Amino acid sequence: MLSSLIPRLLPPSVPSSAPRTLRSVAIIGAGAAGLAAARELRREGHGVVVFERGAEVGGTWIYNPTVESDPVGLDPERHVIHSSLYASLRTNLPREVMGFLDYPFVVRKNSEDFRRFPGHREVLRYLKDFARDFDLCGMIRLETEVVRLAIEGDGRWSVRSRKVGKDLDGGDHYEEEIYDGVVVCNGHYTEPRIAHIPGIDAWPGQQIHSHNYRVPCPFYDQVVVLIGSAASAHDISRDIAGVAKEVHVAARSAPAGTLVKQPGYDNMWLHSMIESAHEDGTLVFQDGSSAHADVIMHCTGYKYHFPFLDTKGIVTIDDNCVGPLYKHIFPPKLAPGLSFIGLPWKVVPFPLCELQSKWVAGVLSGRVTLPTQIEMMEDIKALYSEMEVNGLPKRHFHNIGNYQFEYDDWLATECGYPAVEEWRKLMYSECGKNKIARPESYRDDWNDDHLVAQAMEDFKKFL
Ligand code: FAD
Repeated sequence: MLSSLIPRLLPPSVPSSAPRTLRSVAIIGAGAAGLAAARELRREGHGVVVFERGAEVGGTWIYNPTVESDPVGLDPERHVIHSSLYASLRTNLPREVMGFLDYPFVVRKNSEDFRRFPGHREVLRYLKDFARDFDLCGMIRLETEVVRLAIEGDGRWSVRSRKVGKDLDGGDHYEEEIYDGVVVCNGHYTEPRIAHIPGIDAWPGQQIHSHNYRVPCPFYDQVVVLIGSAASAHDISRDIAGVAKEVHVAARSAPAGTLVKQPGYDNMWLHSMIESAHEDGTLVFQDGSSAHADVIMHCTGYKYHFPFLDTKGIVTIDDNCVGPLYKHIFPPKLAPGLSFIGLPWKVVPFPLCELQSKWVAGVLSGRVTLPTQIEMMEDIKALYSEMEVNGLPKRHFHNIGNYQFEYDDWLATECGYPAVEEWRKLMYSECGKNKIARPESYRDDWNDDHLVAQAMEDFKKFL
Protein backbone atom coordinates (compact mmCIF):
# COMPACT_ATOMS: atom_id res chain seq x y z
CA MET A 1 0.00 0.00 0.00
CA LEU A 2 2.83 2.36 0.80
CA SER A 3 4.93 1.34 -2.20
CA SER A 4 4.24 4.69 -3.80
CA LEU A 5 6.19 6.24 -0.94
CA ILE A 6 9.41 4.63 -2.06
CA PRO A 7 10.40 6.92 -4.94
CA ARG A 8 10.27 9.89 -2.62
CA LEU A 9 13.32 8.72 -0.73
CA LEU A 10 15.49 11.59 -1.98
CA PRO A 11 18.53 10.85 -4.14
CA PRO A 12 21.51 10.16 -1.89
CA SER A 13 23.97 12.88 -1.09
CA VAL A 14 27.53 11.92 -1.98
CA PRO A 15 29.66 11.32 1.13
CA SER A 16 32.02 14.28 1.15
CA SER A 17 35.74 14.34 1.75
CA ALA A 18 35.44 17.53 3.82
CA PRO A 19 37.19 17.47 7.22
CA ARG A 20 35.11 15.69 9.85
CA THR A 21 33.76 17.32 12.95
CA LEU A 22 34.15 15.02 15.91
CA ARG A 23 31.57 15.41 18.62
CA SER A 24 30.80 14.27 22.13
CA VAL A 25 27.66 12.15 21.92
CA ALA A 26 25.43 10.53 24.54
CA ILE A 27 23.56 7.38 23.53
CA ILE A 28 20.52 6.43 25.60
CA GLY A 29 20.16 2.65 25.88
CA ALA A 30 22.43 -0.35 25.30
CA GLY A 31 20.07 -2.69 23.46
CA ALA A 32 20.70 -3.71 19.84
CA ALA A 33 20.17 -0.11 18.66
CA GLY A 34 22.42 1.52 21.27
CA LEU A 35 25.20 -1.02 20.70
CA ALA A 36 25.06 -0.51 16.93
CA ALA A 37 25.09 3.26 17.42
CA ALA A 38 28.02 3.09 19.84
CA ARG A 39 30.08 1.06 17.38
CA GLU A 40 29.31 3.26 14.37
CA LEU A 41 29.77 6.57 16.16
CA ARG A 42 33.10 5.51 17.58
CA ARG A 43 34.19 4.17 14.18
CA GLU A 44 33.50 7.65 12.84
CA GLY A 45 35.72 9.10 15.57
CA HIS A 46 33.11 10.63 17.89
CA GLY A 47 33.50 10.54 21.67
CA VAL A 48 30.73 8.29 22.94
CA VAL A 49 29.11 7.60 26.31
CA VAL A 50 26.27 5.06 26.46
CA PHE A 51 23.79 5.36 29.33
CA GLU A 52 22.03 2.11 30.25
CA ARG A 53 19.65 1.85 33.16
CA GLY A 54 19.85 -1.96 33.27
CA ALA A 55 22.67 -3.96 34.86
CA GLU A 56 23.78 -5.50 31.55
CA VAL A 57 23.63 -4.87 27.82
CA GLY A 58 21.00 -6.46 25.55
CA GLY A 59 17.78 -4.52 26.29
CA THR A 60 14.69 -6.45 25.24
CA TRP A 61 16.71 -9.67 25.04
CA ILE A 62 17.33 -9.82 28.80
CA TYR A 63 14.57 -12.16 29.98
CA ASN A 64 13.10 -11.14 33.33
CA PRO A 65 10.84 -13.73 35.00
CA THR A 66 9.20 -11.11 37.24
CA VAL A 67 6.23 -9.06 36.05
CA GLU A 68 4.99 -5.56 36.82
CA SER A 69 2.62 -4.80 39.72
CA ASP A 70 -0.08 -3.60 37.28
CA PRO A 71 -0.69 -6.48 34.80
CA VAL A 72 -2.00 -4.13 32.09
CA GLY A 73 0.88 -1.73 32.63
CA LEU A 74 -1.13 1.48 32.85
CA ASP A 75 -0.22 2.63 36.37
CA PRO A 76 2.45 5.33 35.91
CA GLU A 77 3.75 4.59 39.44
CA ARG A 78 4.43 0.90 38.72
CA HIS A 79 7.95 -0.49 38.84
CA VAL A 80 8.75 -0.80 35.13
CA ILE A 81 10.22 -4.04 33.81
CA HIS A 82 11.88 -3.29 30.49
CA SER A 83 11.64 -6.60 28.63
CA SER A 84 8.47 -8.18 27.24
CA LEU A 85 10.02 -11.59 26.59
CA TYR A 86 8.21 -14.78 27.53
CA ALA A 87 10.11 -17.91 28.55
CA SER A 88 9.35 -19.93 25.40
CA LEU A 89 10.21 -17.12 22.95
CA ARG A 90 12.14 -18.13 19.85
CA THR A 91 13.07 -15.58 17.19
CA ASN A 92 10.52 -15.00 14.46
CA LEU A 93 13.29 -14.39 11.90
CA PRO A 94 16.00 -16.83 10.83
CA ARG A 95 19.46 -16.10 12.23
CA GLU A 96 20.96 -15.27 8.83
CA VAL A 97 18.42 -12.48 8.24
CA MET A 98 18.33 -11.17 11.78
CA GLY A 99 22.01 -10.47 12.50
CA PHE A 100 24.02 -7.28 11.93
CA LEU A 101 25.32 -6.99 8.36
CA ASP A 102 29.02 -7.49 9.15
CA TYR A 103 28.68 -9.62 12.30
CA PRO A 104 26.72 -12.72 11.28
CA PHE A 105 24.38 -14.29 13.78
CA VAL A 106 25.75 -17.78 13.23
CA VAL A 107 26.35 -20.61 15.70
CA ARG A 108 29.51 -19.61 17.58
CA LYS A 109 31.93 -21.37 19.92
CA ASN A 110 29.89 -20.36 22.96
CA SER A 111 26.45 -21.08 21.40
CA GLU A 112 24.14 -23.31 23.38
CA ASP A 113 21.22 -23.18 20.97
CA PHE A 114 22.02 -24.29 17.43
CA ARG A 115 18.57 -23.79 15.94
CA ARG A 116 18.01 -21.52 12.96
CA PHE A 117 15.28 -19.70 14.93
CA PRO A 118 16.92 -19.82 18.34
CA GLY A 119 15.53 -19.04 21.77
CA HIS A 120 15.99 -15.61 23.33
CA ARG A 121 19.09 -16.54 25.36
CA GLU A 122 21.05 -17.12 22.18
CA VAL A 123 20.19 -13.62 20.94
CA LEU A 124 21.37 -12.10 24.21
CA ARG A 125 24.61 -14.09 23.94
CA TYR A 126 25.08 -12.73 20.41
CA LEU A 127 24.56 -9.12 21.51
CA LYS A 128 26.98 -9.55 24.41
CA ASP A 129 29.54 -11.05 22.03
CA PHE A 130 29.01 -8.05 19.74
CA ALA A 131 29.68 -5.64 22.62
CA ARG A 132 32.79 -7.60 23.66
CA ASP A 133 34.22 -8.16 20.15
CA PHE A 134 33.91 -4.47 19.26
CA ASP A 135 35.21 -3.43 22.65
CA LEU A 136 32.14 -1.35 23.47
CA CYS A 137 31.85 -2.11 27.19
CA GLY A 138 34.27 0.63 28.27
CA MET A 139 31.90 3.24 26.81
CA ILE A 140 28.81 1.96 28.61
CA ARG A 141 27.64 3.25 32.00
CA LEU A 142 25.43 0.48 33.36
CA GLU A 143 22.74 1.09 35.98
CA THR A 144 22.61 4.72 34.91
CA GLU A 145 19.21 6.02 33.89
CA VAL A 146 18.80 9.20 31.87
CA VAL A 147 16.06 11.18 33.60
CA ARG A 148 16.23 14.36 31.54
CA LEU A 149 17.51 15.26 28.11
CA ALA A 150 17.13 18.93 27.25
CA ILE A 151 18.45 21.33 24.65
CA GLU A 152 20.62 24.18 25.90
CA GLY A 153 20.67 27.72 24.53
CA ASP A 154 23.86 27.00 22.55
CA GLY A 155 22.28 24.00 20.76
CA ARG A 156 24.12 21.44 22.87
CA TRP A 157 22.34 18.90 25.08
CA SER A 158 22.20 18.60 28.80
CA VAL A 159 21.93 15.01 30.02
CA ARG A 160 20.79 14.41 33.59
CA SER A 161 21.34 10.87 34.79
CA ARG A 162 20.79 8.90 37.98
CA LYS A 163 22.56 5.83 39.34
CA VAL A 164 20.01 3.06 39.89
CA GLY A 165 22.10 0.13 41.17
CA LYS A 166 20.95 -2.06 44.07
CA ASP A 167 24.15 -1.40 46.02
CA LEU A 168 23.56 2.32 46.43
CA ASP A 169 23.20 3.84 49.88
CA GLY A 170 19.64 5.05 49.21
CA GLY A 171 20.58 8.67 48.45
CA ASP A 172 20.11 10.27 45.06
CA HIS A 173 23.08 10.02 42.74
CA TYR A 174 22.41 12.49 39.96
CA GLU A 175 24.84 13.86 37.42
CA GLU A 176 24.40 16.57 34.81
CA GLU A 177 26.61 16.73 31.73
CA ILE A 178 26.69 18.54 28.40
CA TYR A 179 27.05 16.76 25.04
CA ASP A 180 27.17 18.00 21.45
CA GLY A 181 24.62 15.40 20.44
CA VAL A 182 22.30 12.69 21.76
CA VAL A 183 21.08 9.51 20.11
CA VAL A 184 17.91 8.05 21.60
CA CYS A 185 17.88 4.22 21.57
CA ASN A 186 15.53 3.44 24.46
CA GLY A 187 13.41 0.79 22.69
CA HIS A 188 9.66 0.80 22.12
CA TYR A 189 8.32 -2.46 23.55
CA THR A 190 7.83 -1.51 27.19
CA GLU A 191 4.87 0.88 27.43
CA PRO A 192 1.72 -1.20 26.76
CA ARG A 193 -1.18 -0.12 24.59
CA ILE A 194 -4.50 -1.76 25.38
CA ALA A 195 -7.68 -2.26 23.39
CA HIS A 196 -10.85 -0.35 24.27
CA ILE A 197 -13.76 -2.76 24.86
CA PRO A 198 -17.30 -1.41 25.39
CA GLY A 199 -18.55 -2.45 28.86
CA ILE A 200 -15.11 -3.44 30.16
CA ASP A 201 -15.44 -1.49 33.43
CA ALA A 202 -18.22 -3.80 34.63
CA TRP A 203 -16.54 -7.01 33.42
CA PRO A 204 -15.30 -9.00 36.46
CA GLY A 205 -12.43 -10.98 34.88
CA GLN A 206 -8.68 -10.40 34.93
CA GLN A 207 -6.87 -8.34 32.30
CA ILE A 208 -3.21 -8.56 31.41
CA HIS A 209 -1.01 -7.15 28.65
CA SER A 210 1.35 -9.51 26.83
CA HIS A 211 4.20 -7.36 28.25
CA ASN A 212 3.50 -9.20 31.53
CA TYR A 213 3.16 -12.72 30.10
CA ARG A 214 5.99 -15.11 30.97
CA VAL A 215 4.80 -18.73 31.25
CA PRO A 216 1.51 -20.57 30.57
CA CYS A 217 0.92 -22.24 33.98
CA PRO A 218 -1.16 -19.41 35.59
CA PHE A 219 -3.74 -20.01 32.84
CA TYR A 220 -4.29 -23.69 33.66
CA ASP A 221 -7.94 -24.67 33.03
CA GLN A 222 -8.94 -21.04 32.33
CA VAL A 223 -10.88 -19.50 29.46
CA VAL A 224 -8.52 -16.95 27.93
CA VAL A 225 -9.36 -14.40 25.25
CA LEU A 226 -6.35 -12.90 23.50
CA ILE A 227 -6.66 -9.69 21.47
CA GLY A 228 -4.23 -9.25 18.58
CA SER A 229 -2.87 -10.88 15.47
CA ALA A 230 0.85 -10.13 15.50
CA ALA A 231 3.77 -12.32 16.60
CA SER A 232 3.05 -12.22 20.35
CA ALA A 233 -0.63 -13.23 19.96
CA HIS A 234 0.44 -16.02 17.59
CA ASP A 235 3.02 -17.45 20.02
CA ILE A 236 1.25 -16.87 23.33
CA SER A 237 -2.08 -18.34 22.17
CA ARG A 238 -0.26 -21.56 21.26
CA ASP A 239 1.73 -21.54 24.50
CA ILE A 240 -1.46 -21.18 26.55
CA ALA A 241 -3.56 -23.63 24.51
CA GLY A 242 -1.47 -26.44 26.01
CA VAL A 243 -2.89 -25.78 29.51
CA ALA A 244 -6.03 -23.62 29.18
CA LYS A 245 -9.61 -24.86 28.93
CA GLU A 246 -10.37 -22.60 25.96
CA VAL A 247 -8.38 -20.04 24.00
CA HIS A 248 -10.16 -17.44 21.87
CA VAL A 249 -8.14 -15.10 19.68
CA ALA A 250 -9.95 -11.89 18.71
CA ALA A 251 -8.29 -10.07 15.83
CA ARG A 252 -9.22 -6.63 14.54
CA SER A 253 -7.83 -7.74 11.17
CA ALA A 254 -10.28 -10.69 10.97
CA PRO A 255 -13.43 -9.95 8.93
CA ALA A 256 -16.59 -9.26 10.99
CA GLY A 257 -18.13 -12.75 10.81
CA THR A 258 -14.98 -14.77 11.51
CA LEU A 259 -15.32 -17.78 13.80
CA VAL A 260 -12.81 -20.47 12.90
CA LYS A 261 -11.56 -23.40 14.95
CA GLN A 262 -7.77 -23.35 14.70
CA PRO A 263 -6.41 -26.39 12.81
CA GLY A 264 -4.59 -28.80 15.11
CA TYR A 265 -6.32 -27.55 18.30
CA ASP A 266 -9.57 -28.66 19.89
CA ASN A 267 -9.64 -25.71 22.31
CA MET A 268 -8.64 -22.68 20.19
CA TRP A 269 -10.76 -20.42 17.97
CA LEU A 270 -10.11 -17.33 15.86
CA HIS A 271 -12.79 -14.61 16.08
CA SER A 272 -13.43 -11.16 14.79
CA MET A 273 -13.00 -8.42 17.41
CA ILE A 274 -14.78 -8.33 20.81
CA GLU A 275 -17.98 -6.31 20.53
CA SER A 276 -18.83 -5.95 24.22
CA ALA A 277 -17.99 -7.12 27.74
CA HIS A 278 -20.68 -7.89 30.36
CA GLU A 279 -21.11 -7.96 34.12
CA ASP A 280 -21.73 -11.73 34.17
CA GLY A 281 -18.26 -12.38 32.68
CA THR A 282 -19.40 -12.86 29.09
CA LEU A 283 -17.51 -11.43 26.13
CA VAL A 284 -19.50 -11.10 22.91
CA PHE A 285 -17.59 -11.19 19.61
CA GLN A 286 -18.53 -9.37 16.40
CA ASP A 287 -19.22 -12.79 14.83
CA GLY A 288 -22.16 -13.19 17.24
CA SER A 289 -20.54 -15.90 19.38
CA SER A 290 -19.61 -15.38 23.02
CA ALA A 291 -17.34 -16.80 25.71
CA HIS A 292 -17.54 -16.75 29.48
CA ALA A 293 -13.93 -15.71 29.95
CA ASP A 294 -11.61 -15.62 32.96
CA VAL A 295 -8.86 -13.56 31.35
CA ILE A 296 -8.38 -11.02 28.57
CA MET A 297 -4.81 -10.84 27.33
CA HIS A 298 -4.07 -7.67 25.34
CA CYS A 299 -1.45 -8.52 22.68
CA THR A 300 -2.06 -5.09 21.25
CA GLY A 301 1.37 -3.58 20.99
CA TYR A 302 3.21 -0.71 22.60
CA LYS A 303 3.53 3.07 22.69
CA TYR A 304 6.60 5.14 21.95
CA HIS A 305 7.61 6.70 25.22
CA PHE A 306 10.37 9.19 26.00
CA PRO A 307 9.63 10.37 29.55
CA PHE A 308 13.08 11.99 29.82
CA LEU A 309 12.98 14.03 26.62
CA ASP A 310 12.40 17.78 26.78
CA THR A 311 12.47 19.36 23.32
CA LYS A 312 10.24 22.30 24.28
CA GLY A 313 7.45 20.87 22.14
CA ILE A 314 9.52 20.44 18.96
CA VAL A 315 9.22 16.64 18.99
CA THR A 316 5.83 15.25 19.98
CA ILE A 317 3.98 11.94 19.89
CA ASP A 318 0.64 12.11 18.11
CA ASP A 319 -1.35 8.87 17.75
CA ASN A 320 1.89 6.93 18.34
CA CYS A 321 3.70 8.80 15.60
CA VAL A 322 6.93 10.45 16.76
CA GLY A 323 7.45 13.63 14.82
CA PRO A 324 8.33 15.47 12.89
CA LEU A 325 11.19 13.12 12.00
CA TYR A 326 13.11 13.06 8.74
CA LYS A 327 13.59 9.43 7.69
CA HIS A 328 12.31 8.37 11.14
CA ILE A 329 15.58 9.69 12.61
CA PHE A 330 16.20 13.45 12.69
CA PRO A 331 13.77 16.19 13.84
CA PRO A 332 14.63 18.85 11.22
CA LYS A 333 14.78 21.71 13.74
CA LEU A 334 17.11 19.83 16.08
CA ALA A 335 19.25 17.95 13.53
CA PRO A 336 21.85 16.64 13.71
CA GLY A 337 22.13 17.04 17.51
CA LEU A 338 19.11 14.85 18.29
CA SER A 339 18.42 11.56 16.56
CA PHE A 340 16.38 8.39 17.15
CA ILE A 341 17.52 4.89 16.21
CA GLY A 342 15.21 1.88 15.85
CA LEU A 343 11.77 3.48 15.62
CA PRO A 344 10.48 1.75 12.43
CA TRP A 345 8.45 -1.43 12.89
CA LYS A 346 7.57 -4.47 10.74
CA VAL A 347 11.27 -4.54 9.89
CA VAL A 348 14.43 -6.53 10.47
CA PRO A 349 15.66 -4.41 13.38
CA PHE A 350 19.38 -5.17 13.78
CA PRO A 351 20.57 -4.35 10.21
CA LEU A 352 18.20 -1.37 10.10
CA CYS A 353 19.65 0.03 13.36
CA GLU A 354 23.14 -0.58 12.02
CA LEU A 355 22.48 1.41 8.82
CA GLN A 356 20.64 4.18 10.65
CA SER A 357 23.62 4.43 13.01
CA LYS A 358 26.11 4.68 10.16
CA TRP A 359 24.05 7.52 8.70
CA VAL A 360 23.75 9.36 12.01
CA ALA A 361 27.52 8.96 12.59
CA GLY A 362 28.28 10.38 9.13
CA VAL A 363 25.81 13.25 9.43
CA LEU A 364 27.17 14.21 12.88
CA SER A 365 30.70 14.41 11.53
CA GLY A 366 29.68 16.33 8.41
CA ARG A 367 30.85 13.51 6.09
CA VAL A 368 27.25 13.07 4.95
CA THR A 369 25.06 16.12 4.40
CA LEU A 370 21.38 16.51 5.28
CA PRO A 371 18.95 18.47 3.11
CA THR A 372 17.89 21.88 4.42
CA GLN A 373 15.35 22.11 7.25
CA ILE A 374 12.69 23.19 4.76
CA GLU A 375 13.39 20.26 2.45
CA MET A 376 13.27 17.80 5.32
CA MET A 377 9.94 19.20 6.52
CA GLU A 378 8.53 19.01 2.98
CA ASP A 379 9.54 15.35 2.79
CA ILE A 380 7.81 14.60 6.10
CA LYS A 381 4.65 16.51 5.18
CA ALA A 382 4.46 14.73 1.83
CA LEU A 383 4.57 11.39 3.65
CA TYR A 384 1.84 12.48 6.06
CA SER A 385 -0.44 13.59 3.25
CA GLU A 386 0.19 10.44 1.25
CA MET A 387 -0.83 8.40 4.28
CA GLU A 388 -3.97 10.47 4.62
CA VAL A 389 -4.83 9.94 0.95
CA ASN A 390 -4.35 6.19 1.46
CA GLY A 391 -6.60 6.26 4.55
CA LEU A 392 -3.78 5.25 6.88
CA PRO A 393 -3.86 6.51 10.46
CA LYS A 394 -0.85 8.40 11.76
CA ARG A 395 0.06 5.53 14.06
CA HIS A 396 1.20 3.62 10.97
CA PHE A 397 3.85 6.23 10.14
CA HIS A 398 6.73 4.13 11.49
CA ASN A 399 5.39 0.92 9.92
CA ILE A 400 7.75 0.66 6.97
CA GLY A 401 7.12 -3.02 6.30
CA ASN A 402 6.31 -2.37 2.64
CA TYR A 403 9.53 -0.53 1.89
CA GLN A 404 12.01 -1.47 4.59
CA PHE A 405 14.70 -2.75 2.21
CA GLU A 406 14.41 0.31 -0.05
CA TYR A 407 14.82 2.38 3.11
CA ASP A 408 17.84 0.31 4.22
CA ASP A 409 19.44 0.57 0.78
CA TRP A 410 18.87 4.32 0.68
CA LEU A 411 20.65 4.66 4.04
CA ALA A 412 23.49 2.43 2.84
CA THR A 413 24.01 4.42 -0.36
CA GLU A 414 23.78 7.64 1.61
CA CYS A 415 26.81 6.67 3.68
CA GLY A 416 28.74 4.82 0.99
CA TYR A 417 28.01 1.22 2.00
CA PRO A 418 26.76 -1.68 -0.15
CA ALA A 419 23.04 -2.38 -0.32
CA VAL A 420 21.49 -5.14 1.81
CA GLU A 421 22.30 -8.55 0.33
CA GLU A 422 19.79 -9.96 -2.17
CA TRP A 423 19.64 -13.31 -0.35
CA ARG A 424 18.61 -11.52 2.88
CA LYS A 425 15.69 -9.82 1.15
CA LEU A 426 14.58 -13.10 -0.48
CA MET A 427 14.97 -15.04 2.75
CA TYR A 428 12.86 -12.51 4.65
CA SER A 429 10.11 -12.87 2.09
CA GLU A 430 10.38 -16.70 2.07
CA CYS A 431 10.15 -16.74 5.86
CA GLY A 432 6.97 -14.63 5.72
CA LYS A 433 5.36 -17.01 3.22
CA ASN A 434 6.45 -20.08 5.18
CA LYS A 435 4.96 -18.64 8.37
CA ILE A 436 1.57 -18.34 6.66
CA ALA A 437 1.81 -21.82 5.11
CA ARG A 438 3.11 -23.53 8.27
CA PRO A 439 2.11 -21.41 11.28
CA GLU A 440 2.86 -24.25 13.71
CA SER A 441 6.21 -25.37 12.33
CA TYR A 442 7.76 -22.56 10.26
CA ARG A 443 10.66 -22.32 12.71
CA ASP A 444 11.70 -25.94 12.13
CA ASP A 445 10.58 -26.69 8.59
CA TRP A 446 11.54 -24.56 5.54
CA ASN A 447 12.32 -24.63 1.83
CA ASP A 448 15.08 -22.03 1.48
CA ASP A 449 18.28 -24.01 2.10
CA HIS A 450 19.70 -22.59 -1.16
CA LEU A 451 19.49 -19.09 0.41
CA VAL A 452 21.11 -20.33 3.62
CA ALA A 453 24.00 -21.64 1.49
CA GLN A 454 24.37 -18.20 -0.16
CA ALA A 455 24.33 -16.49 3.21
CA MET A 456 27.00 -18.80 4.62
CA GLU A 457 29.17 -18.17 1.56
CA ASP A 458 28.75 -14.43 2.05
CA PHE A 459 29.50 -14.63 5.77
CA LYS A 460 32.92 -16.21 5.15
CA LYS A 461 34.48 -12.77 4.79
CA PHE A 462 33.37 -11.83 8.31
CA LEU A 463 34.14 -15.07 10.14
P1 FAD B 1 15.73 -2.41 23.48
O1 FAD B 1 16.30 -3.74 23.22
O2 FAD B 1 14.44 -2.32 24.16
O3 FAD B 1 16.83 -1.57 24.30
C1 FAD B 1 16.57 -0.32 24.86
C2 FAD B 1 17.51 -0.12 26.04
O4 FAD B 1 17.36 1.21 26.53
C3 FAD B 1 17.21 -1.04 27.21
O5 FAD B 1 18.38 -1.71 27.59
C4 FAD B 1 16.73 -0.10 28.32
O6 FAD B 1 17.08 -0.51 29.62
C5 FAD B 1 17.43 1.19 27.94
N1 FAD B 1 16.77 2.40 28.46
C6 FAD B 1 15.46 2.74 28.31
N2 FAD B 1 15.23 3.93 28.89
C7 FAD B 1 16.41 4.35 29.41
C8 FAD B 1 16.81 5.52 30.13
N3 FAD B 1 15.97 6.49 30.44
N4 FAD B 1 18.11 5.62 30.50
C9 FAD B 1 19.00 4.64 30.21
N5 FAD B 1 18.67 3.51 29.54
C10 FAD B 1 17.39 3.38 29.14
N6 FAD B 1 13.52 -8.62 16.70
C11 FAD B 1 14.13 -9.51 15.88
O7 FAD B 1 15.03 -9.14 15.11
N7 FAD B 1 13.78 -10.84 15.90
C12 FAD B 1 12.84 -11.32 16.75
O8 FAD B 1 12.56 -12.50 16.74
C13 FAD B 1 12.20 -10.40 17.64
N8 FAD B 1 11.28 -10.83 18.54
C14 FAD B 1 10.75 -9.94 19.45
C15 FAD B 1 9.86 -10.40 20.41
C16 FAD B 1 9.32 -9.55 21.35
C17 FAD B 1 8.36 -10.05 22.37
C18 FAD B 1 9.68 -8.18 21.33
C19 FAD B 1 9.13 -7.23 22.35
C20 FAD B 1 10.56 -7.71 20.37
C21 FAD B 1 11.10 -8.57 19.42
N9 FAD B 1 12.00 -8.13 18.44
C22 FAD B 1 12.58 -9.02 17.58
C23 FAD B 1 12.30 -6.70 18.32
C24 FAD B 1 13.39 -6.22 19.30
O9 FAD B 1 12.82 -5.21 20.03
C25 FAD B 1 14.60 -5.77 18.55
O10 FAD B 1 15.23 -6.93 18.06
C26 FAD B 1 15.68 -5.04 19.36
O11 FAD B 1 15.97 -5.75 20.50
C27 FAD B 1 15.34 -3.60 19.68
O12 FAD B 1 16.48 -3.01 20.24
P2 FAD B 1 16.49 -1.54 20.85
O13 FAD B 1 17.89 -1.30 21.26
O14 FAD B 1 15.82 -0.62 19.93
O15 FAD B 1 15.56 -1.59 22.15
